[in-house]
Order: sequence, then C-alpha cells, then structure tokens
Amino acid sequence: TNSGEGPLARVMQTPQVEPEDDFTQFAEYRRLKSTMRQMQLTGVPNPYFTVHDCIVNDKTMVDGKSLISFASYNYLGLSGHPEVSQAAADAIARYGTSVSASRLVSGEKPIHGELEKKIAKWIGVDSAITMVGGHATNETTIGHLVGPGDLIVHDALSHNSIVQGALLSGAKRRPFPHNDYEALDKMLTALRGQYRRTLIIIEGVYSMDGDFADVPKFIDVKKRHRAMLMVDEAHSFGTMGKTGHGMAEHFGFDARDVDIWMGTLSKSASSCGGYIAGSEALIELLRYTAPGFVFSVGMPPGQVAAAIESLNVLQREPERVQRLRENSELFLKLAREADLDTGDSGGTPVIPVITGNSLIALRLSNRLKKDGINVQPILYPAVDESAARLRFFVTSDHTEEQIRFTVERTAHHLHDLCDSPSSSLRGTG
Ligand code: PMP
Repeated sequence: TNSGEGPLARVMQTPQVEPEDDFTQFAEYRRLKSTMRQMQLTGVPNPYFTVHDCIVNDKTMVDGKSLISFASYNYLGLSGHPEVSQAAADAIARYGTSVSASRLVSGEKPIHGELEKKIAKWIGVDSAITMVGGHATNETTIGHLVGPGDLIVHDALSHNSIVQGALLSGAKRRPFPHNDYEALDKMLTALRGQYRRTLIIIEGVYSMDGDFADVPKFIDVKKRHRAMLMVDEAHSFGTMGKTGHGMAEHFGFDARDVDIWMGTLSKSASSCGGYIAGSEALIELLRYTAPGFVFSVGMPPGQVAAAIESLNVLQREPERVQRLRENSELFLKLAREADLDTGDSGGTPVIPVITGNSLIALRLSNRLKKDGINVQPILYPAVDESAARLRFFVTSDHTEEQIRFTVERTAHHLHDLCDSPSSSLRGTG
C-alpha cells in the first residue's frame, strides 16, 4: 500500500488548489481567450463556427450569400443526394430517429447488419462493425485492443482520435516520422521484442496534407515484425482506388493483409459514424467487448440508411470517383503552375496551400470569402506556425470554372499578402 511517504508522495499531496466553480480561471480557458484576443486584433472576423444554412456541396450559403465551398468533405456530393435523403427519411419513418438502446440490448435493426455486410464487402474483408462516431471508433478500438505491456507505433501526423485512443489504452506510444516505413522498421527492430502486442497505425489519405501512405510497404514491415496493422481510411474510403474502394484497390493488394481497417461514414458515405472492418474474430470480439460499442447506442436508423444508400449510389455511379480524381488533379496542377505551396499533396481531394504564417492564412481566407469562396484556414497551434495553411477539400461536383477561379484568386491574394508588410499571429497583441 502507498504509505504517503517520500518526496513524490508529498508533491502529489499538495496540488495547486483552483477555485472549483470558476472555469474562467482555468489556465486552458485563459490561453483560449488570449488566442481569441490575438485573432481579434488582426481585424479579421473569427473563422470558426461559420453558420451554413443549406446542404454544403460545391456551394454553400453564409449570411444569405452563396459561396463556392472548399471547406466540407462531402467528397462525392452524396450528402443532399435525393435518393440518400429519401432512404434516411424512410428508415426514420419505419424505425424512428433513435434505436433507443445499445444494439447488444434491444437496439439491433435489420439495416445495421445490412450496412456492415456492405462495408465488409466494399473493403474486401470478412466482417465489419459500425459505431456512432468516427472519433469514438478510433478511441474505443485502439483503447481496447492493446494495453499496458503493448506497443503502439503511429504516424507522427496521426489524427487526434488515434492519439487519444493510444493514450486511453495505456500502451507504450511511439510516433514515427511521417510516412517513413524504413524508420518504423528500425524502431520495431529495436523495440518489438520488449512488448506483447505491437499495433502499427497509419492513415490512408492524410487529412491536413492530402498525401497518402505506401500501404504495401507498411504491410511488409508489419509481417516482418509480427505486428498488427491498422489503417484509418476516413479520407480514402470512397475517394481512393478506381471505384472508391480505398487503399487496397488503389495499390491492388489483398485487403486481408491489413488487420484492422477503420473508416468514417461522415465523409464519402454522407452519414455519421465509424466502422472497423477485418476478420470475423476481430469483429466478434469488438461486438461483445468494445466499451464504445457495448455501452453506447447503436447508429441511428436515418444515418444507417444514408450510408447504405450512399454505397448503392456509388456502386451505380463509380464515375463520381473519377470526377473527384479529375477535379483534384486539376486543382493541384493549376495550384502548382501558380507557384502555390501544396506540400506533398498527391492527387487526393485534400489540397493544402501552405502560407507559412497564420496571419496570412487568416487574411487569405477572409479575402477569398469576399470573392465568394469559402475555405478554412488551419492556424497555429493546430499546425506549426511555419505550416499554417488553407485546406481545400475538392468534391466530385466542383466545376472546372469554380476550380480555375479559386486557384487564380488564391494565387492573386497570396502574392499580394506576401508582398505587403506582415506580422505573425503570435506576434500580435
Ligand atoms: N480519423 C481521421 C483521419 C479523421 O480525419 C477524422 C475526422 N475528420 C476521424 C477519424 C473522425 O471521424 P468523424 O469526424 O467522423 O468522427
């Protein structure tokens, strides 16, 4: 038992006591307010929580004004598709808006199994499970499958939900340099023997940079070190591969070579929720034991039906994926011709324009809004100050004219802003 003696125990017994009912005194809250004040001093309106009073696809509606939209990941234009909306409405009429219980208890509907079979088949594995949120799916799955005594090695640019899951698990967590399977190989050579299970986690398409992992190379590494490989396809499901089946189709490998496929239904599938797909045993284990599934409500009927119908439409109209690719490639080509810094973006629908300075990113997005273009600035501390950027999400419904106009305006304003005396966001106030 802990006797409460020793220097460590004394530190633990004398925490700095904060007022218990005043959140304004939280250090985190004060930091937030300070960042907001700095943003206010720039004179540029707050770019967060903009209200969009419509279905957002290639266009959106803000303050009664129609804008070309590059800030939403409705990649295939299926959110707002009449058949998808109708399928959701029909499911709500039949099953209600909530399944009103965990699926284990009494929340199971026929469409849950239908969606999961469809997802497993779409990816090319035996089985799948869906959960109410993509972020929650990563957290609970990673948090549950490994624990103390295990090792998680994940890409340094991993999404927050992956990092949170790793922290929750209590496993040893080690990031490896972005996309660097050779560095990972070396790390595992040194570390693998010290741990019971080792879980490698990568993403298909990276959501800030629009580049993607060389998955077959990671499969080689995981086989060499007898580790598990998990691939998050949030941004590659529906967008990568000739017909949108994701990374396995893109590279042409057997999907069963990846142990854990994860994805979200909030992007190409125009719904909400997350899935894990893999072997029968993995999915059965999660169905009976993953806390975020067992102790959470089943996906609501409208969202399940929307995801099913999105996959039906996509199966009938694979040309949507082709159009998305053509639009993404056109955007990237024009941006590079205009000397914009698009980093390592590689023909995916995520295209950053790196400004290298948060204030310039903020001002650029504001100027573009005045020109009728909506795009989100990504500012420090979300990324390093030198990596501040605008992030463009391309969709299959964008027109060539919209893309040309947007790249031309972006280049015009960026050159102008870079020529004018600038200060950094961190320097103001
Ligand atoms: N993984 C990645 C790579 C993501 O980008 C996101 C969010 N965009 C998620 C997981 C979480 O998905 P959701 O927003 O559907 O909860």
